[in-house]
Amino acid sequence: MASSNDNKSTEGGFQDGNSDPNDEETNELCPGFKDVDAFVKYGLGAVLSATKASAGLPQAGDDYDFYRSFPGFQEFCESQGDKLLHLMSQIMQHHGCRSHMRDRNKLTGLEERFDLVVDSNDTILERAGILLDEADGVNRSQQPVMPAGFQPPKIVVSSWNRKGSGSGSRPETFRLLHAKNVARPQLKFKEKVDNSNTPFIPKIFIKPNATKPLPSYFTNKQIRKERPEDLDVPAALADFIHQQRTQEHVEDMFAHPYQYELDHFTTPENLLSKPEVQMYKPMAETKCSFIDTLEDLVALNEKLCKLSEFAVDLEHHSYRSFLGLTCLMQISTREEDFIIDTLELRSEMYILNEAFTDPATVKVFHGADSDIEWLQKDFGLYVVNLFDTHQASRALNLARHSLDHLLKHFCNVDSDKRYQLADWRIRPLPDEMVQYARTDTHYLLYIYDSMRAQLLEFHHGQPGLLQSVWNKSKDISLKKYLKPIFTEESYLELQRKQKKSFNTQQLTAFRLLFAWRDKLARQEDESTGYVLPTHMMSKISEELPKEPQGIIACCNPVPPLVRQQVNELHLLVQQAREMPLLKAEIAAQKNKGLTPIKKSDVKLFGPHDTSRVHESDLPHFSSDGKLNNLPVKQGILFSEDDHKMDVDIQKIKVLTAPAKITLFELETKSDQTSLSVAHMKASRIIESFENPFRMYLPPSDVHINKNAKFDPSSKIFEISKRWKLQSIEQQHKELEAKRKAKEEAKEQAKKERNKAKQSYQESLQNVATVRQQAADSLKGGGKKRERVASEVGESTPKPSKKLMKSADKPQKTEPPSQESFTPFDYSQSDLSVFAGRQFLSFVQQKGSKGQKSNFGAGNRSMSYMAGKSER
Ligand code: AMP
Ligand code: MN
Ligand code: ZN
Repeated sequence: MASSNDNKSTEGGFQDGNSDPNDEETNELCPGFKDVDAFVKYGLGAVLSATKASAGLPQAGDDYDFYRSFPGFQEFCESQGDKLLHLMSQIMQHHGCRSHMRDRNKLTGLEERFDLVVDSNDTILERAGILLDEADGVNRSQQPVMPAGFQPPKIVVSSWNRKGSGSGSRPETFRLLHAKNVARPQLKFKEKVDNSNTPFIPKIFIKPNATKPLPSYFTNKQIRKERPEDLDVPAALADFIHQQRTQEHVEDMFAHPYQYELDHFTTPENLLSKPEVQMYKPMAETKCSFIDTLEDLVALNEKLCKLSEFAVDLEHHSYRSFLGLTCLMQISTREEDFIIDTLELRSEMYILNEAFTDPATVKVFHGADSDIEWLQKDFGLYVVNLFDTHQASRALNLARHSLDHLLKHFCNVDSDKRYQLADWRIRPLPDEMVQYARTDTHYLLYIYDSMRAQLLEFHHGQPGLLQSVWNKSKDISLKKYLKPIFTEESYLELQRKQKKSFNTQQLTAFRLLFAWRDKLARQEDESTGYVLPTHMMSKISEELPKEPQGIIACCNPVPPLVRQQVNELHLLVQQAREMPLLKAEIAAQKNKGLTPIKKSDVKLFGPHDTSRVHESDLPHFSSDGKLNNLPVKQGILFSEDDHKMDVDIQKIKVLTAPAKITLFELETKSDQTSLSVAHMKASRIIESFENPFRMYLPPSDVHINKNAKFDPSSKIFEISKRWKLQSIEQQHKELEAKRKAKEEAKEQAKKERNKAKQSYQESLQNVATVRQQAADSLKGGGKKRERVASEVGESTPKPSKKLMKSADKPQKTEPPSQESFTPFDYSQSDLSVFAGRQFLSFVQQKGSKGQKSNFGAGNRSMSYMAGKSER
């Protein structure tokens, strides 16, 4: 414990030291020290001797046990241990962290207390970072809105969270409330997050309010459960069977589960006629319930099913997770407000489908585009009968369409949208944030009434305009969640948005960095913006620093994972630098009087950055891939043997990656003078050629996502594992009923509707079970249902070992059928990678009309596309 703690603080020390060691709290002199230097010197000395002393202690499992047999030693250890714990406690308390360090009796609590130490370290380091920034001149005077009693948050004010200054309003700056030491909610999820580079498959497994039953793929456990390796047949045959089965279901797998119901949904007459505008209850007089148990959720669902309308909103966190996390759901009825802890109830939220897909109940959202996707992504929830007040605002042609504007306009309520970007993972949820969240739905039903009335007035009582809002809302509820998919071209889309023209080397760097960050983000379950923000990625590509320090200099602040993997990044940049420039690019640079590597005008400060030194001034490594007679590996990205690479890196220090294109490439010899005249002539001739096909040549370094290596069928099983499995009895009953239903269906298409109802009734048994369980859990001390967590190919926050393991497993690749899921084929690094498109276009075709694709959208930096919809 002590040693890992030591490690942690040295890491932090290095990090802080790098920021600016000399500026430390100049204005806050410590008693007994004339200046900072004196204090630092003293401090370092103390730390050093403490480290030495602790290293000198007898080791556990070695001498320690022997020494411990002496009561004197034991006593000494005990008293010193207490003293240390007391000191740690004090430090932690001083920084406002939780601390129960001294309670040494609880042996079981060791892990918990270790977490406490880690958390406190984070807080303290974070605070140090903030102070250093302050000393460094970064403006921290602006007080962030943060509930009392919370650790100092990190304020990030960047361009993406600035409201557009359009339509005359003054530009407003949002403040991102970012408490660094929030525990990762993902760790507690019953089903692990699936970040693999495979398309999203709906999470639904029972379908309330169905007129068309849920496809057997989702209800039939057998299909989902049986893996090819479970079958007692030769592997090839198992693969074939498996593939056939998968193929059969591929269309169902990617369809909108409520497509049929939505297509056949017509807005009831009474919703198209003049509404009675019902005033909202004052917030102070409204009951607000915080829902974080299954039984409360079940009760809420029951309540909602009886209503003719309710309002919904979600709060989402997208910085410290790859796909984002829905942290909160707010629901307001005419009478009450509800705040649901969706991190806690993530796996049970699906029961709300009963109310959410009930066509007799209107669900009012404001700007539901993202919400609809998040509901599917995190909970398998769908909405039938949606009214989006954002769409209504557009139809009414209001000045602005954001919720705060509607609140001002209709309710004269000033809302404080600053909490919008708060870290919604924080628990317990501070009162201020609860209040904010409530405001998002509390007034919405009144606004819904008012807007419907106005929409009718606008058109002199004709329902056309109102109907168009209902239609637009329906289109939104037909949206399907699409997972960001990495393809070989994803980077281009993002690069184009940078509005910078890159030469071949820079573009290569951008491509490699893009792949690196995508892989790492999926693996570590972080957003790509957390791993490496796009503007930094762009800067590194532009600068092509020759030294790791140059990469660091391109980033401010330096993302933790960049710092950690700066050597890997350096290799990627080196690899990019080896790309031959096009003749035109060289000429363009010569015209500008620049060295062949393009530099931006703004020079970054980096004392060790030698990127502006001409290459010939640096120690030269021959381009045939040899350095000091050590065999040098080709610069492979995402190779299978990551670990081996690490070792090699340490051994070799510098790797050179040979250039990839050989067809038109000049064969440069390290020693130009050793070339014969003829050779030189030849090479000059070759040099004068441009390879017109360069852009079509395959890059040899293909991003290989280990998670994505699984074929689609195994993916199904992986996902299926997560779903609640019904009892075998129920399973049989259901199968029986389905078989019957199928036969009947062939005979009488008319009876379709009844059968669906029957199937829904069956599924309802399930919900009843949930209720039963809720009741049981009420009795039995809150015991929650267990779920089978998926283990294969899933990503966990510290997954490297796990990932290696799953990647090591023998994998079966099945030739995909034409129409079926053709995942990105990572095993082939040549042009066949484009086969991946086949599938993507398939899924996209199946998507609802007009839906924007997010395939290959790599700029998930903070993931929210500003201006997508005004909130
Ligand atoms: P809202 O519907 O306004 O409550 O927003 C829901 C979620 O969308 C918030 O919790 C944020 O995660 C995200 N969000 C809303 N507006 C922005 C924005 N301007 N920038 C980034 N994320 C946003
Ligand atoms: Mn919202
Ligand atoms: Zn909201």
